[in-house]
Amino acid sequence: MDKQMSYGDDYKPLPATSIADDVCIQVVPDVFSYTNKIVNLVFVGHPDEKEFVLIDAGMPNSAPHIIKACERVYGADCRPNAILLTHGHFDHVGSIIELLNHWDVPVYAHPLEHPFLNGEKEYPEADPTVEGGMLAKLSPLFPNDPINIKSHLKPYPSDGTVPFLENFKWVHTPGHSPGHVSLFRENDRTLIVGDAFVTVKQDSLYKTITQHKEINGPPRYFTTDWSEAYQSVQKLHQLQPEAAITGHGSPMSGLELKENLDKLVHDFKEVYVPDYGKYVKKNDLLH
Ligand SMILES: [Zn+2]
Ligand SMILES: [Zn+2]
Repeated sequence: MDKQMSYGDDYKPLPATSIADDVCIQVVPDVFSYTNKIVNLVFVGHPDEKEFVLIDAGMPNSAPHIIKACERVYGADCRPNAILLTHGHFDHVGSIIELLNHWDVPVYAHPLEHPFLNGEKEYPEADPTVEGGMLAKLSPLFPNDPINIKSHLKPYPSDGTVPFLENFKWVHTPGHSPGHVSLFRENDRTLIVGDAFVTVKQDSLYKTITQHKEINGPPRYFTTDWSEAYQSVQKLHQLQPEAAITGHGSPMSGLELKENLDKLVHDFKEVYVPDYGKYVKKNDLLH
């Protein structure tokens, strides 16, 4: 088997960070949101049981911080059972090769996301012309070439189950990327959203740095299908989550989450879809 792993040719560390960098929040007893610079990873597993999975793999050059954060929760030399990906954008797989070299565990992703993870295909380029703030304008700096982790890559089971997480189901939430998934646990209504929606205005550099909390659609510069993104937000709204951990921004729960999700769905077309951008076709959303 080909064990060679590589990042894309345009892989590079980026200086972006936020005030929440390296903060780990216990959202429910067995789910932690860990902020790495401007993105969140999720650890799922009760600390007493020392078994966990890691969801997403952070920004470039962050493996030592991510490993340390896991060890603070699960103990020295802990190892996840797997890495589960919500999708393969650079800020969610930025340290995955170093993490795999350290842990050597399988990586699960939706089959539609595999081409971006096995070296086959690059993501569409980020759109600096999309209506939005400074981070959107800087987005052409973001890597979009495929990485290659073929040797560790597996598809999520087609029956909706999630490996190692008995009570979770994966939900296909495309729009931001073709094989984007969110993970949902019915019994306590915990939702791991990925970037299907986020709780910070991720296109604004200032709001990203300060982590100003406000619900938003998926990060604009990378979202290529707003019609699918809208359907995905509706799908997640119907699940009536009690707590949501998003790929960017602080976790949200209870009434605050309900009210914000209601608003997101209700005003999606008018407020949350950018007014312009190369991937924005507002008319599609009227159907
Ligand atoms: Zn993304
Ligand atoms: Zn992201």
